Amino acid sequence: MSVPAKRKSSSRARKGRSHLALKKINLNRCPKCAKTVLPHRACGFCGTYKGKEVIKSKSIKTKKQENKKT
Ligand SMILES: [Zn+2]
Repeated sequence: MSVPAKRKSSSRARKGRSHLALKKINLNRCPKCAKTVLPHRACGFCGTYKGKEVIKSKSIKTKKQENKKT
């Protein structure tokens, strides 16, 4: 492994670290269930995207599993 030729000054090190901060994630509200959703993604709770149900929601799946058990 190579070793850096010169020591980085504290100022240069801090300048480099100015880009390391994590960006705040942008969240939208689901129009159907009002839960927080990532933009351009289907709602994880009710499974809707652009007003249509794209994914079968978890609550329906759990109900089906409960029916199988009984
Ligand atoms: Zn939703």
